[in-house]
Amino acid sequence: MSDDVGKVYLVGSGPGDPDLLTVKAKRLLESADVVLHDKLPGPEILGQIPEDKREDVGKRAGGEWTPQEYTNARMVELAEAGETVVRLKGGDPTVFGRGGEEMVHLAQNEIPFEVVPGITSAIAGPEAAGIPVTHRDYVSSVSFVTGHEDPTKDESAVDWRALADTGGTIVVLMGVGKLPGYTAELRKAGMDPDTPVALIERATWPDQRVATGTLDTIVDVRDSEGIEPPAITVVGEVAGERDRVIEFLEGA
Ligand code: SAH
Repeated sequence: MSDDVGKVYLVGSGPGDPDLLTVKAKRLLESADVVLHDKLPGPEILGQIPEDKREDVGKRAGGEWTPQEYTNARMVELAEAGETVVRLKGGDPTVFGRGGEEMVHLAQNEIPFEVVPGITSAIAGPEAAGIPVTHRDYVSSVSFVTGHEDPTKDESAVDWRALADTGGTIVVLMGVGKLPGYTAELRKAGMDPDTPVALIERATWPDQRVATGTLDTIVDVRDSEGIEPPAITVVGEVAGERDRVIEFLEGA
């Protein structure tokens, strides 16, 4: 390792609107030597980064993900060469973003690093659709969960029954593909089939879309609207608040 080892910043980009970058994220993007990113920060933010300092460590041309080991090794290699590296992640770097694993890898390799929080899509996504994640009149908790797991598997780490019992808002990330599975689990757990559900696709991107339904109808809505990742699923009474504000939100 050279004496002048660089530094890695694990930076959250926020949900995609460049105005929702933190001041620190923006400053670091301007001053970094290299930006390692995937597609989640969105076209507007990525478009502001000069091509010659961007390295895409997201999905490769063949549709496969760049292995995490590659990204880990690349961060270390660049820092050891004295570079200032921004590892740019969508939303917040440690909310389902493998930021935790990357921190440990950097620490084990004695690479100086810093985490720069970002606005997570788990909160900004619903807000962009006029949905508050809590509401003092009727929701006192909110849970952020991954929908990526197969809910019928015994070893699923998400306990949908327990979540239904909280009576609070459930925000699901990576939850487009497995929507039929977990909405069925929540109904089985006794949740009202008329509970409002919203899907927010590409929240805060120029082509954001929102689709709404209920626990019973949302799978059909997803299919008829063709909702695709990245999207946030919000399950709970708060999703119904959208109807009360949408006219003003869209007129803004
Ligand atoms: N660290 C990120 C989440 C990474 S997991 C964050 O804090 O936001 C990837 C998932 O995030 C996607 O499958 C999707 O559910 C969600 N997501 C991220 N950005 C999004 C956006 N702009 N609109 C909708 N969903 C988004």
